[in-house]
Amino acid sequence: MKNLNELFEHQLKDLYSAETQLIDALPKMAEKANDSKLKEVFKNHLEETKNQKKRLEEICDELDIKPTGETCKAMKGLIEEAKSFMGEAETDDVMDAGLIAEAQRVEHYEISGYGTAVRYAKELGKGDIAKKLQETLDEEYNADNKLDKLAEGRLNEEAIA
Ligand code: FE
Ligand code: FE
Ligand code: FE
Ligand code: ZN
Repeated sequence: MKNLNELFEHQLKDLYSAETQLIDALPKMAEKANDSKLKEVFKNHLEETKNQKKRLEEICDELDIKPTGETCKAMKGLIEEAKSFMGEAETDDVMDAGLIAEAQRVEHYEISGYGTAVRYAKELGKGDIAKKLQETLDEEYNADNKLDKLAEGRLNEEAIA
């Protein structure tokens, strides 16, 4: 990579890989969730995630690049961690509390990725693309907030008991 433009494209491909992996992982997390609200958050975010993937396809189309070809190793690791956790949780409450923890790691990773991408898009004078990326960034923040509220609300307390 020789310039910010190429770095930007690399970041977009990395995010594309991350979203693609998540579309695979979120149904499993929804299935394992016991609390109906948590299940709903995962299912809703799955639909949002599919749309986020589509947005990246549109952006790459505009930039005349392919979105494929990168693997986001960090997302791969986060999902591996979530999967191994799901095999270790022995009660419903621990499962739900742990799923929230794993999912928030994922959302925070995406928030940092999209935050960077929005900034690069702006610096490169690509306002329309920045706007599109910002929409996704807002959704990631929103998903993280919903998880925060569920964790604070009661799921962690139940896991203590
Ligand atoms: Fe996402
Ligand atoms: Fe990555
Ligand atoms: Fe997300
Ligand atoms: Zn957070």
